[in-house]
Amino acid sequence: MAIEERVFVAGAGPVGLAAAANLVRNGVPVTVFEAGDALSEESRASTFHPPTLDMLDDLGAAEPLMAHGLIAPRFQYRSRDGVIATFDFSTIADATRHPFRVQSEQFKLTRILHEALLRKQGYRIEFGCRVAGVEQDGGAVHVTLERNGSTQRRSGRWLVGADGARSEVRHALGFEFSGFTWPERFLVISTPFDFRNALEDLVSVSYVADPMRWHFLLEIPGLWRVMFPLTETISDDEATSPTFAQALLAEAAPAAARCEIAHLTLYKVHQRVAKSFRRGRVFLAGDAAHLNNPLGGMGMNGGIHDAINLTNRLAEAWNDTPSERELDSYERQRRQITVEYIEKQSIQNKRNLECRNIDFAAELRRTAADPRRNYDYLLRVSMIASLRRAAAL
Ligand SMILES: Cc1cc2nc3c(=O)[nH]c(=O)nc-3n(C[C@H](O)[C@H](O)[C@H](O)COP(=O)(O)OP(=O)(O)OC[C@H]3O[C@@H](n4cnc5c(N)ncnc54)[C@H](O)[C@@H]3O)c2cc1C
Repeated sequence: MAIEERVFVAGAGPVGLAAAANLVRNGVPVTVFEAGDALSEESRASTFHPPTLDMLDDLGAAEPLMAHGLIAPRFQYRSRDGVIATFDFSTIADATRHPFRVQSEQFKLTRILHEALLRKQGYRIEFGCRVAGVEQDGGAVHVTLERNGSTQRRSGRWLVGADGARSEVRHALGFEFSGFTWPERFLVISTPFDFRNALEDLVSVSYVADPMRWHFLLEIPGLWRVMFPLTETISDDEATSPTFAQALLAEAAPAAARCEIAHLTLYKVHQRVAKSFRRGRVFLAGDAAHLNNPLGGMGMNGGIHDAINLTNRLAEAWNDTPSERELDSYERQRRQITVEYIEKQSIQNKRNLECRNIDFAAELRRTAADPRRNYDYLLRVSMIASLRRAAAL
């Protein structure tokens, strides 16, 4: 079978397309296999952190994303009694070209990346095409593709498994994916109700600590997304009924009791990391490699950081003599950061909002008041600290 002189990417989510865009930018031909018939339009992640915007800027995608999104220069922690502390990303303007978050649905990014890629030589995408099997030898990776009930075998030089949480690439190679699933499910309610008119001093990104019902409020253009944890005692039918959603929103702000519900997403949340991110010519990135709760918005952002780290190395290997050590550095850096930082921090963020740490509010106020601690804290929550640590590994 002929070997295509291309890198294969499984999955056209934000991670797969960021990987494709960076490879094509570096002169590496790419074929993306996407199981869906079109790009996903699901409402999922909606936060882009400063260093992610710096990376997307290098791909020409930050400006259009900002044009379709909302710029959030500040975020805050609140309790039922009001603001605990507000943090301003301008404090770390020396460390990033984008000292703010952009709030925008992830499907806007995939659309932007895909449309720009269609104008580039070297990019191919095949929709309705599921990667169902993977084998490899010293010189190539062989994928089994399923399309309209028929199968086909194709060979390329490398494979990036960016095929999401249920990754078939991960399964095909038997990567262990250990961790745990939270007992509660998370409900994301989107509404055009403007919480700014109902909660004093609210900013676009707000986390509300509460021992009974913590939640967060995120503004995106035209909507607020409010996320609550739900216990197992609430059935899926009840959880996804508009009246239940309105009752929850009324707990956050009584004026929201009869507001319009634009959409509801109920999902299970996992904390898992693949035991390995590389096997020979195959690499895992994004949700295929790691899952975490959405507190801190690190899942998709961490996945894009994986994609850029990996594809910088693959481009070097493509254009020069491949160095095993360089390629191994991807796993060494990104896996360790995922375990040490993304998993740990997202779990800690959840515990903080649950008020398991009784000193949380006092500690947060001390951090906000002390310039050095404030600066370091912002480097950490913006994920800049994790990238610096990864680079040092
Ligand atoms: C319901 C839901 C809500 C979420 N909300 C948030 C949130 O509020 N905040 C947050 O930070 N994160 C959230 N996340 C997580 C976030 O969406 C992910 O971290 C992010 O999408 C990861 O991107 P990815 O490209 O790795 O995977 P995905 O976005 O899952 O993309 C994978 C792509 O691969 C395709 N695919 C799957 N299998 C195959 C195959 N075998 N062959 C070819 N293609 C395949 C899929 O169709 C998909 O297009 C949410 C996730 C879910 C499921």
